[in-house]
Amino acid sequence: MNRVITACALCALLLINTSAVARGVASIVYEDDTDYADVRELMMHEAILDDAVEFINEIFTLERDIEIVVGTDDGPLYDPAISTIQIPYFFYTEIVERYRQIDSREIEQLEFADDAILHTLFHEIAHALTDQLEIPIVGKEEDAADGLASVLLLEYYEDGAEMARNAAELFAMEGEERGELSKEDFWDEHSLDEQRYFSTMCQIYGSDPEKYTALGDEMEFTEDRREICVETYQRLVDDWITLLGGALAE
Ligand SMILES: [Zn+2]
Repeated sequence: MNRVITACALCALLLINTSAVARGVASIVYEDDTDYADVRELMMHEAILDDAVEFINEIFTLERDIEIVVGTDDGPLYDPAISTIQIPYFFYTEIVERYRQIDSREIEQLEFADDAILHTLFHEIAHALTDQLEIPIVGKEEDAADGLASVLLLEYYEDGAEMARNAAELFAMEGEERGELSKEDFWDEHSLDEQRYFSTMCQIYGSDPEKYTALGDEMEFTEDRREICVETYQRLVDDWITLLGGALAE
């Protein structure tokens, strides 16, 4: 009898140990949707999110699985109750259509949408990591999520600056479309689209002020603003590294 208890106790210990070392995995699924069959095929073919999921699994040690569901009715959002990121197909088509208004070239439209959707995924990943790791966020979590999206693009992707810039341009377009500001815009958990645009541009400039001098000129950033962009970007990178701790691969 004693032996059995000992064996079981060992079993339990082994189970606990196994679960302690097991890591979560990010995965992606594209929902069937007859209304968006072509968009589904296009996104799967572009594989921008699939590549990003691979990247996420490489650089993060996740506590729990994160499922990315493309083709949901709501979103983009992260649902902590089911550890799921939801991205609707219409979100992608809306980006393509927005960009079509300023550029008729199809390849450019797709590139723009791919960059923006990648930024969106990283923004939602920031929410997921904040939830899983119980990362303390003082201030707007939405701004922090935008910040991590910028950092991942600028620090890990060769064309990250261009990608972040396209994501920023989408914020600018959304701001232009919104028109006059209402109370709802001010109390929204997100900063204003225009602020998200300027913050992202500032982060790009701050990531390499010599390389992006022309961007600073184009944005008409003052000397003070340029210094702040450099300081805040460095702080953003350092703080996210600290907060992610062991969850981020060396
Ligand atoms: Zn968010």
